Amino acid sequence: KTKIGVLALQGSFAEHCAHVRRCGGEPVEVRKAEQLVGCSGLIIPGGESTTMANICRRWNLFEPLRDFAASGGAVWGTCAGLIFLADRIGRGAKQGGQELLGGLDVTVDRNFFGSQARSITTPTSMRCAVPDADDGSDTPFRAIFIRAPAILSAGPGVEVLAEYALPEEKRAELRGTDAEDVEKIIVAVKQGGNLLATSFHPEVTSDVRWHKLFLEMSSAAKAYAGVGEDAVRKA
Ligand code: GLN
Repeated sequence: KTKIGVLALQGSFAEHCAHVRRCGGEPVEVRKAEQLVGCSGLIIPGGESTTMANICRRWNLFEPLRDFAASGGAVWGTCAGLIFLADRIGRGAKQGGQELLGGLDVTVDRNFFGSQARSITTPTSMRCAVPDADDGSDTPFRAIFIRAPAILSAGPGVEVLAEYALPEEKRAELRGTDAEDVEKIIVAVKQGGNLLATSFHPEVTSDVRWHKLFLEMSSAAKAYAGVGEDAVRKA
C-alpha cells in the first residue's frame, strides 16, 4: 500500500485520511518528522495557514517538509495547504507576514472568496474536469470553496488543471481594486510531476477522484528515507 502522510497539525486532516483509505492508500497522520519516513506522498490540508506555519516553526517541521518535497516526494496542498506551498502571496501587504513552505511557483491571494477576519464560510460550487480520471476526464467535479485562496498567476513550469470564471457578483465586488481586470482565477495546478495544489476542498465531498490522482502521483514517487538519509547512504 502506498503510504500517504497527512499533515495533522490542525484543519481537515481526518477527512483527507478517510479519502486516502477509500482509494486504497494508507494514511499516516504527520506531527513529527519521523512520521514522514516511508511515505511517498504528503497532503497539506485546509485550515488556517498562519496557524499551520506557527505550529510548523515551533515543532521544527519546516526543514523535514522541505526536504520531503526536494527529495521527490509528492505533495498536495488544499486551500490553506495551497497557500503554504506557494512561493508568493500577492495583493497587498495585509496578506503577508507568514512563513511559507514554498516550492510551488504561483502567486496566491489568501482570501479571495471572503475575509479571514470575519471568518465566513462561503461554500460556492463550481464544476471542473478532473485530469487523468479513470472514468473519463470530462466528468465534472463539484468544488467547494471555504474562505478559499485563488491563484492569481503561475510560472511557466506550472500546469493549470482547473480555472474558475468569476461570477458577475464577484467581479462587481472587485471593481476599483487591483484585481478588477481578473475574469478567471486558477484553482488547481500541478508542477514538476510531484506537486499538486487545489484551492477547493475535495475531502469534504464524496468524490474521491482528486485523491485517486494524488495516489497515482505518489505511487510514482519513491518512499521518503528521512532528512539527510540519502546523503548518508551515498557517502
Ligand atoms: N483562508 C485560509 C487561510 O488563509 C484558508 C481557508 C481554508 O483552508 N479553508 O489559511
